Amino acid sequence: MLAIALGVLMSTAAATPSLEQRIDDAAARVESKVIACRRDIHEHPELGNREVRTTKLVADRLRALGIEVKENVAHTGVVGLLRGGKPGRVVALRADMDALPVTEQVDVPFASKVRTTYNGQEVGVMHACGHDAHVAILLGVAEVLSGIREQIPGTVKFLFQPAEEGAPAGEEGGAELMVKEGALENPKVDAVFGLHVTSRFAVGEIEYRPEGMMAAVDSFKIVVKGKQTHGAYPWLGVDPIVVASQIVLGLQTIPSRQLDSTVAPSIVTVGAIHGGVRNNIIPDQVEMIGTIRSLDAKMRDDLHARIKRTAESIASSAGATAEVAITSGYPITYNDPALTEKMAPTLRRVGGAKNVHVVNAVLGAEDFSFYQQNVPGLFFWVGTRPPDQTPEQAPSNHSPLFYVDERGLLLGVRALAHVAVDFLSAR
Ligand SMILES: [Zn+2]
Ligand SMILES: [Zn+2]
Repeated sequence: MLAIALGVLMSTAAATPSLEQRIDDAAARVESKVIACRRDIHEHPELGNREVRTTKLVADRLRALGIEVKENVAHTGVVGLLRGGKPGRVVALRADMDALPVTEQVDVPFASKVRTTYNGQEVGVMHACGHDAHVAILLGVAEVLSGIREQIPGTVKFLFQPAEEGAPAGEEGGAELMVKEGALENPKVDAVFGLHVTSRFAVGEIEYRPEGMMAAVDSFKIVVKGKQTHGAYPWLGVDPIVVASQIVLGLQTIPSRQLDSTVAPSIVTVGAIHGGVRNNIIPDQVEMIGTIRSLDAKMRDDLHARIKRTAESIASSAGATAEVAITSGYPITYNDPALTEKMAPTLRRVGGAKNVHVVNAVLGAEDFSFYQQNVPGLFFWVGTRPPDQTPEQAPSNHSPLFYVDERGLLLGVRALAHVAVDFLSAR
């Protein structure tokens, strides 16, 4: 009798899968739905702040899962709230939804044929950065987690965000506006996680980096004012073209000669110079614009001060003036070191230790950084490069040939679902 009772007890125990196993089983079950959803969104891409169809699809799916939905956040954003069966903290998971003004050249049945007008130009529209995959993955995560909601100790907030690639001219948008409109409040978010698919890494891989993972991107404009004169008598004026040339070279010595490049790399690029109308006239002024990339917050401030000082001092040495205006763009995508250390074992468990790596930072930027300015966050790469291609062969994000190997999506679903649950379960 005892033996039978014990046997029943043991088989019951064996038949009750762990939470971890339930997440993986549910993720495997939604995989085909995630792929179908990604193809649907891929075929119907929408530019930033115009994600109307995508938003409706997201809101409908979340509601069908019994998730509270708030629409029209930061224009076309959607915030979903899944309250777990037990009390606890709040974790946010983010997916960006916008496509790019790129004409697709990938030969797939669900390739985009959408065209629109962008900045007065007729363009194709394509999910050339993989945000279609991000939306599909996060909807998959929502389905997985809603199936185990009774066992979730806390709340999961789903941030479906518009306009990561930048809002149309004259509009606000993206993560910055999501934060401004309270996406991280009510309930207050304790940690935020996000991922990006990339052709730099193969299917099955996860990569991340503690601290600065992607750069802050700031832009500058320098107006050098001299004194107009005849090209044959430069001593009668002040030549802003020569001064501007010295400034271009002077700026290059800031990252290479003045900043500690072992702490973090940085870049100053002058992208355009305009001045003058004729071969024999020294003009009054020259205008330069450029981009600044940095990976360390202190270095970012220092870099800005040095750019200003270098331009002004060089100009003043020639009797000219330089007006420097720096416009802040996206902050550093900064993975909170403590949170990263806490969640890295989850990523290794989910992806397999040999497939999860700490990688170098990149000098591209992500507006996920705005969430990380407000709450600790972790952003990571999920590989979607076909395993038979090398990183050099695979077209990069933003290319008209950018290709997502959909076999990589399941790992994205599992990774986000597990980091969310592990974060909430940790004491
Ligand atoms: Zn992009
Ligand atoms: Zn992107």
